Amino acid sequence: MTPDTHGSAMSIVVVSPHLDDAVLSLGATMHRLVADGSAVTAVTVFAGDPDRDGAPSAWDVPRGLATAAEVVAARRAEDATALGSLGVRPVWLPFDDDAHLVARDPDAIWHDLEPVLAEAQLVLLPGWPLVHGDHRYTTRLVLARIDRRIPAMFYGEMPYAWKPVSAARALLRGRSNGEIVHALGEDLTWYAVRVNAADLSAKYDALAGYVGELPALGFDGRPSGVRSLGLRREMLAHPASAHAPQALARR
Ligand SMILES: [Zn+2]
Repeated sequence: MTPDTHGSAMSIVVVSPHLDDAVLSLGATMHRLVADGSAVTAVTVFAGDPDRDGAPSAWDVPRGLATAAEVVAARRAEDATALGSLGVRPVWLPFDDDAHLVARDPDAIWHDLEPVLAEAQLVLLPGWPLVHGDHRYTTRLVLARIDRRIPAMFYGEMPYAWKPVSAARALLRGRSNGEIVHALGEDLTWYAVRVNAADLSAKYDALAGYVGELPALGFDGRPSGVRSLGLRREMLAHPASAHAPQALARR
């Protein structure tokens, strides 16, 4: 891995499968990076087609909006608010998540994603537990096609990573994913990122921006509920033979 480990400011792209993964998983980390002078972009791969006709997906029905296009507009507006409050630049790709039954063209996705990643000195990918199909798809696609001169690290995906079944798996088998190990030719070293109370507070405030999403995420419509959940410990991993850049120091 070849990030600049002397200065702490970097250009970092967080790859977010859906419109909340980056903030859920790395909200405090992104806040710390921006505070330290890094330029952070969150690119959401399955941000939804803003021109889509028809009814909302089952996931989006509780919002009470009439059309899929209205849902996409509402979700992007929430994401802009959440990421904006952290000083992170949003990029949205117009692809549908797996709540929609549409054929997926990896070439079309890569066509839009590759130029965003090409700007980065470091790319952060979903890394564990990779239980959601869209997350696996995203990491698999990037690892298969990314220019290997761009270093990649991996993040623990919230809220999946703190669920009891994941915690038990981590204890028994570690946070190892066979596909990542195969793609990199080595295992990962996981660690908790160093953030402070202000970073965590900024994360919780940002999460409250996803007002239409909170009930579906299990927060019972109470933004204050996010503080009680296991979202405090943000995890990153680097290839075992490499080391983390100074901007992403170990806690
Ligand atoms: Zn997701």
